[in-house]
Amino acid sequence: MSENGKLSKFWVQELTRPAFADWLENEPAPTVIIGIGAIEQHGLHLPLGTDSLGVAKFIHEVAALTNSVCIHPCWPGYSPHHMSFPGTVTFSSETLMGVLMDTIESFAHHGVKRFIMVNYHGGNEQTFQLAIQKARSKYKVMIAAPTGPRNTELAKKIQERMARYLEVHSGPRETSFALHYFPELCEMWRAEDWENGLVLSKELQAFMDPDREDYELVSQIFHASFGPMTEDITRNGQYASSDPRKGNAEEGAAMMKEAVEFMVDFIELWKSLPLPPAYRD
Ligand SMILES: [Zn+2]
Repeated sequence: MSENGKLSKFWVQELTRPAFADWLENEPAPTVIIGIGAIEQHGLHLPLGTDSLGVAKFIHEVAALTNSVCIHPCWPGYSPHHMSFPGTVTFSSETLMGVLMDTIESFAHHGVKRFIMVNYHGGNEQTFQLAIQKARSKYKVMIAAPTGPRNTELAKKIQERMARYLEVHSGPRETSFALHYFPELCEMWRAEDWENGLVLSKELQAFMDPDREDYELVSQIFHASFGPMTEDITRNGQYASSDPRKGNAEEGAAMMKEAVEFMVDFIELWKSLPLPPAYRD
């Protein structure tokens, strides 16, 4: 539904053609939010679709607060490094690039000029950024990929955990947001006998210490010394030395509240600025 440009449904697949046309014509700065994630192993207790399920919840929440249309154009992302673990479905980077470019081109064809892109899977990042760079000039559209906030107390606490415990994948941080967004898909009982599965050498693990004076240097050496595949880093599929059972829905709710507010503020301020000459037809 859309009346005088005001949407009451936000997923593009749930809008009728006239509703979409009404929004496009009457919303002063129509913005499309594109979210991508992954289908890949997420340790023992989180669903394979954690990143895609999460990004879909997030972009829909933001779309509803900013009168934007949202789309989750594909479930898999770029995850070849997880293929030793069953259940992972990966696209090639070319396929992912094609999905992103074709999605943007379609909306650009209908006259959309502003896009927000959200990526919830680290493995997609290079392809995701290249698609943004290419699409901006090829289709003459504005594309933003905001991330934040980084300066709140909670954000700093989580960054500290990411540095100290490599809390990147299937650890407490992701468990918190999964327990907030889709608790019915989390099997916490599978983590009962959890133990640290990192298989990195002792020398490398000693670099996981943000209190070190040489942390800037050694943290980069740490990342440069990983093997390329998930099994080179972890036995149980979890990139984190911390216990996922420390994750909880309250932390997930607080994290997502901050992220939604930041994104809404970004979109509202961005939309208040006129379209720069470079993007006008
Ligand atoms: Zn994930």
